[in-house]
Amino acid sequence: MVKSVSLEVRQERNEQVAEAPVQDKKVVYDTRGLNLWYGNTHALKDIKLEVHENEVTAIIGPSGCGKSTYIKTLNRMVELVPEVKITGEIIYRDKNIFDRSYRVEELRTRVGMVFQKPNPFPKSIFENVAYGPKIHGIRDKKTLNEIVEKSLRGAAIWDEVKDRLHENAYGLSGGQQQRLCIARALAIEPDVILMDEPTSALDPKSTLKVEELVQELKSNYSIMIVTHNMQQAARISDKTAFFLNGEVVEFDATDKIFSNPSDKRTEDYITGRFG
Ligand code: ADP
Repeated sequence: MVKSVSLEVRQERNEQVAEAPVQDKKVVYDTRGLNLWYGNTHALKDIKLEVHENEVTAIIGPSGCGKSTYIKTLNRMVELVPEVKITGEIIYRDKNIFDRSYRVEELRTRVGMVFQKPNPFPKSIFENVAYGPKIHGIRDKKTLNEIVEKSLRGAAIWDEVKDRLHENAYGLSGGQQQRLCIARALAIEPDVILMDEPTSALDPKSTLKVEELVQELKSNYSIMIVTHNMQQAARISDKTAFFLNGEVVEFDATDKIFSNPSDKRTEDYITGRFG
């Protein structure tokens, strides 16, 4: 499916398809028939979705349609809410994350998360980034220094903080705090980064920085981003899933979703008729 969609988009752009064969990327997350209830609220309905590696996958849709629930299911954080019931499967790298034998701690070391509001710990910039590796048993000072520098560089904030690593993270601006939280996620060397509206609390300049960063990060990570900002999804994602009332209405290449959606409800949403 990926192959034909990419081909179609490139043909629409009149690119020379024959010279650059499209490679099938590996599936990182394969969601199959996923249903989720909060008590009696049926929040996710028969979700089917494949996430491919080294891509940015955006989840869009109106408020309350299940976007945040879905990405919190991918790292099993949603199960912290009482009275959650889940059926179906999420295959992460060939294993069903709901299998009895699956270790949630293992999943969380592979899948980092960045939230809507920057949430640094009340600690120094250095300690924020070193926290995860320390929990995983890394004690050697030199190794920690290297991880902290590499993660801060990866999150495009090193130059701004390298001379104040031992100052409290609360002294940073909102946009800097969010990039610090991305650095904190990178420090555990994840495979996937989940982002739940990561720029909604940021000013336009910081938003742009985070968007540029997401684009850079996808060469090393697979990224899923929930956003209510359709321009943002169009700017930075490769694939887009449109959620409505707990269902995936349409999932396709971002170019296709925004230029020629297959479902009337997607078209109505992206043209601002509702939501
Ligand atoms: P979105 O991220 O698209 O705004 P959510 O995933 O937050 O949507 O919510 C989907 C549905 O699940 C909504 O009806 C919401 O009220 C409900 N919901 C979300 N979180 C909880 C919770 N902790 N307890 C009960 N219902 C919840």
